[in-house]
Amino acid sequence: MAWRFALMIDPAASAQESADFSHSLRVLDPSVPALELGELSAQRGDGVFESIGVVDGHPHEVGPHLERLAHSAALCDLPAPNLAQWRAAVERVSAEAGPGESVIKLILSRGVEGRPAPTAWVTLATAPDNASARRDGVRVVTLDRGYPLDVPGRAPWLLLGAKTLSYAVNMAAIREAKRRGADDALFVTTDGFLLEAPTASVLLRIDGRFVTPAPSAGILHGTTQLSVFAHLEQRGSSTAYEDVPASDLKRADAAWLLSSVRLAAPISAVDGRPIVVDHGLTDELNGFLLGRRG
Ligand code: PLP
Repeated sequence: MAWRFALMIDPAASAQESADFSHSLRVLDPSVPALELGELSAQRGDGVFESIGVVDGHPHEVGPHLERLAHSAALCDLPAPNLAQWRAAVERVSAEAGPGESVIKLILSRGVEGRPAPTAWVTLATAPDNASARRDGVRVVTLDRGYPLDVPGRAPWLLLGAKTLSYAVNMAAIREAKRRGADDALFVTTDGFLLEAPTASVLLRIDGRFVTPAPSAGILHGTTQLSVFAHLEQRGSSTAYEDVPASDLKRADAAWLLSSVRLAAPISAVDGRPIVVDHGLTDELNGFLLGRRG
């Protein structure tokens, strides 16, 4: 990724109820090191993050991303982020984005070992080129997530449903998918329910209804999936959150991976079995997602 701009957020100012947080945002030079060696984000992956898609300078779904950041922070016992301060940071960074597609990352780390304050920063980078994933689709393989559907309630310390910085497992799953000749993975519980992809939500169309796994399954509630549901409902389509058996992948006549930067990537094969790509609806969804102005 080409880093283009970055801001450090002063945690001391986050207790204030100021209307102007500009003094608490320090511009960083993205080409020089900015973090201390004792950073717990680097040492332990101990922190939470968000990736926000930006198109022609417009950051998408900032409210839902900030709410999810706060939710992740609460699950991890991190100090509650001051959302007005983070919103100010997103606005400041978006002003640097310019034309085309970019990605803003919000990072809230537990901070430097032995110190009480968190570390918080925001980056801006050029988005990768997702044209072929949106047009031709992605081949996925199903991978065992290693736990049953009811584990989030029984083991909250697994932090399922928090967008933590510990994405090593997610990246390992994508590498395994590539070793198996696919582009991406779909996680499945040990008792056979569909969850999500390592960096995206999954959407199935079955008998004309649009279904996605319920967030209670310990998955992230995708901001893109929320947007897509609003669009589908507005055009009169029926949508549902359900516990989705992985066997439903065989019943789906179309399926997509949904995420903030890649947007709607149609699934073209599951475990080597082709699925027809609905190009018309995929273009409609991506046209809608790209055209959002907030
Ligand atoms: N699930 C996981 C594990 C993710 O990492 C992501 C995106 O980063 C999503 C789902 C989709 O979330 P969003 O649409 O908000 O990008």
